[in-house]
Amino acid sequence: MAPYSTEKEILEIHEILKQTFASGRTKELAWRKWQLKQLWWLVADNEDHLNRHPLESMASDIAGLKGDILEHIKHLEKWTRTVKVDGAGILFGTLSGAKIRKDPLGVALILGAWNFPILLILQPLIAAISAGCCALLKPSEMSTSCSELLDELVPQYLDTSAIRLVTGGPSESTFLLSLRFDKIFFTGSSKIARIISAAAAKHLTPVVLELGGQGPTIVTKSADIELAARRISWAKFTNAGQICLSVNHVFAEPEIADKLVERLGYWNEQYLSQGNDDMCRVINDRNFNRLTDLLDCSKGQTVQGGQRIPAERYIAPTIVDHVTMDDSLMSEELFGPILPVLRMSAKDAVTTINSMPSPLALYIFSGDTNQIDWIINSTISGGVTVNNVMLHAAVPNAPFGGVGEAGYGAYHGPYGIDSFSHRRVILQPPKWLDKLMGFTYPPYSMKSLKW
Ligand code: NAD
Repeated sequence: MAPYSTEKEILEIHEILKQTFASGRTKELAWRKWQLKQLWWLVADNEDHLNRHPLESMASDIAGLKGDILEHIKHLEKWTRTVKVDGAGILFGTLSGAKIRKDPLGVALILGAWNFPILLILQPLIAAISAGCCALLKPSEMSTSCSELLDELVPQYLDTSAIRLVTGGPSESTFLLSLRFDKIFFTGSSKIARIISAAAAKHLTPVVLELGGQGPTIVTKSADIELAARRISWAKFTNAGQICLSVNHVFAEPEIADKLVERLGYWNEQYLSQGNDDMCRVINDRNFNRLTDLLDCSKGQTVQGGQRIPAERYIAPTIVDHVTMDDSLMSEELFGPILPVLRMSAKDAVTTINSMPSPLALYIFSGDTNQIDWIINSTISGGVTVNNVMLHAAVPNAPFGGVGEAGYGAYHGPYGIDSFSHRRVILQPPKWLDKLMGFTYPPYSMKSLKW
């Protein structure tokens, strides 16, 4: 493993980025487009180097990244242009030409989580480049090979005077956070997000927090159970459920719960029918032990799975039925291939969801459009996918972000540019405006208002 960046290196890089931003170089649209194209090549040339199943890499890291870069190149002028203020009226609009321009915030710090180590660093970077910012990237120390790969590729492809990467764990992050940045974009847990927010507050640095949570899924009695089971099982299988948007637990209406559990089991078997090679492993021993402890303490009924291979950190897709809210499996975000099933009505599920921190994602499987609308209206979440899982995050140019405990701020498409920009109002009132506005100068006289 390569040594982590030293404080001296971090300080030098920080200084270089500040100077580059001050030079105005990254504000040029030509520079932004050039860097976006270079980023596209960085991904395209190296997509085979990721150490996970190529299909999962393509579906979750590569396709989204390349698509987002192309959208940014295509719409860069439109998404960054200065606009007239809508409805500013004669005085401010016509006479004074009120405009809003998007100015890049400056030097951004981008901190990523380990579960999509390339995507969660490079996708915020797309937005930072498009906004005209300089960026310092710090991938998660847990995904060592991706961190090392990015460390090698970033200077090969990108402008090193404006975009740099440093490596390290909590102590390097703590040092980074002692420096002043103009924006911090953090993806990770809500626990560490509190440390990030507190450090940012010292410099009044604005922050985007992309966090996780306990993504609930409601399956109602009118749902297509086969479809629900297939998709929910997939959400827990892919990346071994180590996805911020994954299904955490299922609320199944009692009328269909038996059938749902049986079909979930069927689809788990299907996904493992060629052996367990397609199933991702748990990231490290700490998380492996955390998950197996939660499972061992559960009072629910393990109806499928539960097998482990500690040496490989493998946990078979596991369904635990008859789970209740006070169960160990409901005590935190699972982030693993264990699926608790809680049997209750959709109405009770909504009450339960509202008694918990707002989730990043909510999934509803139902055939009743009125009921779907009611559930959406009665709850709050970062996003919603109906009769499927996770797909709302893949909608090009739609905002992706959380609410409440799942974070704040958003990115993807133009929303990312907004996160790295300051919307600056520019007004140029003509000199003769005083002929109209002279009455506002003291000494005041009410007579001047009698036009
Ligand atoms: P984490 O919070 O442990 O780590 C995230 C980042 O914080 C890493 O870069 C890490 O180096 C840094 N960090 C760790 N300790 C630190 C400290 N003491 N001070 C400063 N920085 C520190 O999260 P994780 O385990 O990498 O990822 C899992 C979490 O991330 C889950 O909660 C998941 O839901 C969430 N997540 C959210 C999204 C999203 O887009 N909303 C995407 C992926 C993961």
